[in-house]
Amino acid sequence: MKALILQQYMHLEIADVPAPSISAPDDVLIRIKASAICGSDVHGIDGSTGRRIPPIIMGHEAAGVVASVGPGVKNVAVGDRVTFDSTIWCGECFFCRRGEVNLCDDRRVLGVSCNEYRRDGTFAEYVVVPERIIYKLPESVSFEEAALTEPVSVAMHAFRITNMRPGENAAVVGSGLIGLLLIQILRSYSPHRIIAFDTEPRRRAAALTAGADVALDPADPASQKKVLEMTEGRGVDRAFEVVGASAPIVTAISATRKGGSVTLVGNISPKAEFPLQAVVTREITLRGSCAIAGEYPASLDLMASHAINVASVISAVAPLEEGPLWFERLYTREPGLLKVVLVP
Ligand SMILES: [Zn+2]
Ligand SMILES: [Zn+2]
Repeated sequence: MKALILQQYMHLEIADVPAPSISAPDDVLIRIKASAICGSDVHGIDGSTGRRIPPIIMGHEAAGVVASVGPGVKNVAVGDRVTFDSTIWCGECFFCRRGEVNLCDDRRVLGVSCNEYRRDGTFAEYVVVPERIIYKLPESVSFEEAALTEPVSVAMHAFRITNMRPGENAAVVGSGLIGLLLIQILRSYSPHRIIAFDTEPRRRAAALTAGADVALDPADPASQKKVLEMTEGRGVDRAFEVVGASAPIVTAISATRKGGSVTLVGNISPKAEFPLQAVVTREITLRGSCAIAGEYPASLDLMASHAINVASVISAVAPLEEGPLWFERLYTREPGLLKVVLVP
């Protein structure tokens, strides 16, 4: 089969490799129809993350058609249009048995090779995954859109564990891909106000299009006053931080009312400083949100009903052969580029 392979750091190429085959009874062979490039793939190609050790077929956000199934597969059949979790969880450990599959002790992300494991991913014509991580696609969701079910579900997980109540206000700090999806999800559940923050004007404009009531520049001293004006002088009930660095974490905490909560989704830096006394004395809850634990069906529902519009964050759909070019454009941070979907 044709595959896009990271042969060595900073060097991707298209090659012919043997297609994967079914080995376990619950294995499903999927013909990939669309596979989106994730920020973690882009960061991974230079070796800085240690999670894309070459050679590796990357890719973990995809959709396709079932091509064949193992003898133990019950719920999907050849010809089904499907997507799947980015992570293969074991289903047996303490966390999996509690339904916290994102915290599985033996989780393996597709398209990742690190010191602990190696698992080829979806920038190829075929991939094999176990039945338990597969979800059927609603008819109205295209393969290209379905390739984004994974990032939608990352945003959905953060939303779900935040337990927002009707009428609450929310702030979203960072209007990149996950931030924009989160704003769309929040909008579909009608919170009282959605306040977006981003340092880049272009991203603030995208946040307004996604459904934010206002998009503020965190570097502008007047922003804090605006938040208070919009929240009866209190600050927002719930903040989401989707960057993962000290400055945006401070922005999120400063925007939050006493007794409110900040859900931390971004994690680009391993450590961050935050105003300890503000968190303690204002009794703010900080909560981490990692990956996905069962949010795929809810995400697919919102996508099928067009309550959220994932096409709005797809910058380009291109053939797999153009993969090296698109990785280059993403790696050099071409302005305005959000999601790129490759079609093998
Ligand atoms: Zn990803
Ligand atoms: Zn597990």
